[in-house]
Amino acid sequence: MDLQLTQEQRRLLILIHTYTAPRDDGSQVWLKDLPLRALMYDGIVKKVFDWDYSPTSVFVHGIRRFINISQEGEHDLIELREAGLVDKLRITATEHVPSKAYRSSVEGAAVVADFPEEDRKTIIDLISCLRCESAREVRVTSSEAFYFCKDCESTEHIGLFNIEDVAYVARPYLPRVLGVGSTGGES
Ligand SMILES: [Zn+2]
Repeated sequence: MDLQLTQEQRRLLILIHTYTAPRDDGSQVWLKDLPLRALMYDGIVKKVFDWDYSPTSVFVHGIRRFINISQEGEHDLIELREAGLVDKLRITATEHVPSKAYRSSVEGAAVVADFPEEDRKTIIDLISCLRCESAREVRVTSSEAFYFCKDCESTEHIGLFNIEDVAYVARPYLPRVLGVGSTGGES
């Protein structure tokens, strides 16, 4: 297979593979889309991924919310799926809002083994606990995203919901002339 993956695509595949590689007992887990988005966003913030991002309206546990999503990252995810390196599963959650989950495919797991060590180390550094270096889970509630370390129970906030408010919040506008600096002419 002649795969020309970019650095971002390699790292994204390593990230997904790290969370979804088959366990010792043969069971394999899926990485749900919200934790994956949180990891992708945190990877942008920590310069693991050279992607842009913007606030995007999605359903988060049945509630419409703006979260930071990278269109370039979504595009790379699609390319990995089209190359057969990532499997996708559609889930209909209890809120009746369909969501998705991902895992590395057999082919994906095979190519990860040949990726540069630097890419693997970058991803391990991203997901490792700052205190005890265990691999951390990612949890996303309806208003918060964070890493959680099962071994030492430490957490680290992820700014998935931190939306820069420029375009979305109408700011109160107070004319400067009113009251401020007015000397008045009458007494
Ligand atoms: Zn820890």
